[in-house]
This record gives sequence, structure tokens and C-alpha cells, in this order.
Amino acid sequence: MIKAGTLYIVATPIGHLGDVSARAIEILNAVDKIAVEDTRHSRRLLKALNIEKPLVALHEHNEKDKGCLLLEEVQQGASIALISDAGTPLISDPGYHLVRSAHRLQIRVVPIPGPCAIIAALSAGGLPTDRFIFEGFLPAKKTARRKQFESLVNESRTLIFFEAPHRIKEAIVDMLEVFGGDRIAVIARELTKLYENIKQGSLCELLQAIELGAIPDKGEFVIVVEGDVRKKLPTTLTPEVEQLLKTLLSELSVKQSASLAAKITGVSKNLLYESALKLS
Ligand code: SAM
Repeated sequence: MIKAGTLYIVATPIGHLGDVSARAIEILNAVDKIAVEDTRHSRRLLKALNIEKPLVALHEHNEKDKGCLLLEEVQQGASIALISDAGTPLISDPGYHLVRSAHRLQIRVVPIPGPCAIIAALSAGGLPTDRFIFEGFLPAKKTARRKQFESLVNESRTLIFFEAPHRIKEAIVDMLEVFGGDRIAVIARELTKLYENIKQGSLCELLQAIELGAIPDKGEFVIVVEGDVRKKLPTTLTPEVEQLLKTLLSELSVKQSASLAAKITGVSKNLLYESALKLS
């Protein structure tokens, strides 16, 4: 059931038309108007769904002005849906200013969830999904791209990036240099489309696959990278272990004390040896 005076944020397919939800079709059929990123692109989608509605172009250049006019209509009782060229609006797509203003004006905003390249890549990529961060499109310039990777080198959450097809190899090369060749990543290409290709491997293996043409540099890409999961070794002793080490040092050599304390506590022998040297 459609509600008057409501702004609907409707997700549309990222490739496979069959992924449009029944609720999305219902809402798009029922609203007074649909705000779209690109009228020609959306007309094709809506035609395929047999939906005929007035369309309003809403893109990054006119979003603030056009958005105000649209929200005035919503305040007067109209129901409007926002869609983007593909996937979930606002996710690297227009709509942020519109939705923010709608909330300021106390307008009801209703999401109609559905396809999203980030979630599709994450769900099929086989990397930890409990905590992740989305970094959007990578910078086009090498220096900025490397800087971004360097700022993320110790990030333990799974990292998700969008990248253009012609820069996919450069991006993997930079990641490899900053994160190391052993870091596990996933290249998710053409999700839900005919040539869908999802490959997980070390950054070294993925680079090789690109160089061999096993991952073609064409189509749409999401890159998912495992976070920094190296075990961080403790660098200090707990007060209890330090007390034990002191007791042992009063009777034994540094080497013997460190070795015995390691056996008793399971703490790294190197750390105990360094600490014993300092204490002795
Ligand atoms: N709002 C969209 C969503 O929810 O997925 C994302 C829009 S963003 C402008 C477009 C980028 O998303 C592409 O350049 C690509 O990185 C990624 N993308 C979109 N569809 C994709 C697909 N079918 N397979 C892989 N990546 C895709």
C-alpha cells in the first residue's frame, strides 16, 4: 500500500532484471513521479517492467534545487520514488541531499531495499563480513590511491572499494605494494550479469589472473580486501607475569628465567627474555 506525502528510496537491479523486488515494482507503479539519475537509462528499465510514470532527472548537478521542488510536492501530498541507474540509491549515487532535506522537513522516507553491489560482493566473496568498511570509488591518481591504502594498512575490518575497469590492474598493484602480496582479496566483476566472475586469492594471485586475462579488465568491479588480521603480539608483560619473572630472576640466569617463565605462562620467550634483561 502506497502512502501519500512519502519519499520512497527504491533499489533496482545491478545487472539482472529478475532481481527487482515485487515491492519495488508495486511502489514504482503506484507513485506519482519517479526521480531518476538518467531519464534515458531509467526509461529502459521501467519499460522492461511495464511501468509508465512521469520521470524527473535528479543528478549531482541539480540535486539541491530540483530536490527542493520535489519535496514541496511531497509536502503537498505527492508520493515520489527515487531510483538510481543501478542498485541502491545514495550508495555512490545521488540522493543524499534529497533524503537529508526530507528528514529536516519531517517527510516520511521509506526504503525499498534490494540489490547493492557492495553487499553482493561481500556476501559471495568469502571474506569476514562481521565488520567491514566501504571506501567508495578509489582515487584515479596513483599518489592519492597509495595514500588511501597506506592510511588503511592496519585496518582490521574488511575493506570494500569500487574501481573502474581500466584502473583495476594499477589498483591491485598498489594494494599489493602497500598491503603485501599475501593479503587475501576478492575481485567481483559483473555481478548478476552474464559474465559474472568472482575470484578470491592473494593479491599476488589476483594480479597474475589479471595479467593472464583470466580476469578481463572490462565491466564493473568491486574489490574486497581482507583486513589486517595479523596477530598483534603483546609488547608488555602483565603485572602477574612480571612478578613471576622477577622471582625466577632472583634464583636463575636471564636465559633460564625467560625459558621457565615461557613454559609456565605461554608468553613469548622473546618478550620474556627482553623483559628479563631489563629487570636484571
Ligand atoms: N548504487 C550502486 C549499488 O548499490 O550497487 C552503486 C553505484 S556506483 C555509481 C557504480 C559502481 O558500483 C560501479 O562502478 C562498480 O564499481 C559497482 N557496481 C555496480 N554494479 C556492479 C556489478 N553488477 N558488478 C560489479 N560491480 C558493480
